[in-house]
Amino acid sequence: MFPPDQPDRRTFLAAAGWLASTAMSKDVPLAPPDKQSADAKMPDPPQKKAGWAVVGLGKLALEEILPACALCKRSKPVALVSGHPDKAKKVAAAYDIDPKAIYTYENYDTLKDNPAVDVIYIVLPNSMHAEFTTRGVKAGKHVLCEKPMAASVAECEGMIAAAKAAKRKLMIAYRLRYEPFNMKAIELVRGGEIGKLKSITASHCQNTEAPNIRLSRELAGGPVGDVGIYCLNACRYLTGEEPTEVTAIAHQPKDDSRFKEVPESVAFTLRFPSGVIATCDCSFGTDESRRYRALGADGFLQLDPAFPYHGLRLTVQKSAKISEYKLEEKNHFAGEMDHFSECVLDGKDPRTPGEEGLADVRVIAAIEEAWKTGKAVAVSK
Ligand code: NAD
Repeated sequence: MFPPDQPDRRTFLAAAGWLASTAMSKDVPLAPPDKQSADAKMPDPPQKKAGWAVVGLGKLALEEILPACALCKRSKPVALVSGHPDKAKKVAAAYDIDPKAIYTYENYDTLKDNPAVDVIYIVLPNSMHAEFTTRGVKAGKHVLCEKPMAASVAECEGMIAAAKAAKRKLMIAYRLRYEPFNMKAIELVRGGEIGKLKSITASHCQNTEAPNIRLSRELAGGPVGDVGIYCLNACRYLTGEEPTEVTAIAHQPKDDSRFKEVPESVAFTLRFPSGVIATCDCSFGTDESRRYRALGADGFLQLDPAFPYHGLRLTVQKSAKISEYKLEEKNHFAGEMDHFSECVLDGKDPRTPGEEGLADVRVIAAIEEAWKTGKAVAVSK
């Protein structure tokens, strides 16, 4: 109807609003400037990550710790220590670790010449924790050691002294101190949510099939150090106190060859200075039970389950009214590793240092004496 560029056509299109935008933006440059202004908002740079060497490529290291590294913000695996070079090569390839950074238990001490390694994570049988922690700090590295810290009080004291002498940090891997449900339970119980705390019951039991490091006395296995320690540690972190006295009984069935060297089940009680009484049981011969209940003058708090890697459930019951705390689940191992990396990189003290592991091992020694003698035993200081 209108030939191109004729005034009548422009008037018609403008009236229809079709030309409005081009007419108004006539003098605006369409291409962005080739330089951003100096005060443009920049993204936060990634935080520096500590380099980790994982020692012992067993079930925990392969199924939990190394996969959790992908969720870490401040920790990355850079070296492996293993007695099985073929397995270690496969793991190194999967996690993009330089194959030159694979060590054996024999040349472990040469980690001192690898500046990429800041932290060593000991994931070996309990009987090897003391030796590898001590060699690790002597190689100039900070050490995170799995629980239980070691086979005896003397070994724990030696590890703490070695770390101090080498001016290196030592932390024990109590993963539940780095996840939201147990931390909330501590806050609620110590904050008086259930009134004055009177007693705790805790249970950590499972079926442990042979062969397993947990069934060997030589490797410092046994249910108290392996699973009972979660009940014991929970009683200590809920009360914030150290138990003064323990009693215990154990059962070691003669007709089950799994229990030739360690008891199947141990039940123990702990007396705390405030008057709190804790009753705990642990076993390698039952279906799963992983829970605790803290009973106060005004109600009780329950975490059931309390100890597994996933699916923790926290409730508080007061005057027959039950409230459930729905918290966001966090990976326990990533939280624990990043905490220690932060300590190492930013000069902080770990929440669960060697002294925390030693405190548990002191009680474990008293529990063992109690079930062997049948007497109440005072916890050594
Ligand atoms: P595992 O038996 O699966 O692995 C042990 C590793 O140590 C294997 O790689 C094995 O080859 C190596 N090893 C070296 N010398 C050995 C020897 N003389 N005998 C046997 N193995 C030897 O055990 P795991 O379940 O991975 O447990 C390892 C450590 O981690 C233990 O201290 C255990 O208490 C702890 N752990 C902690 C948690 C947790 O939730 N924090 C869970 C499981 C295990």
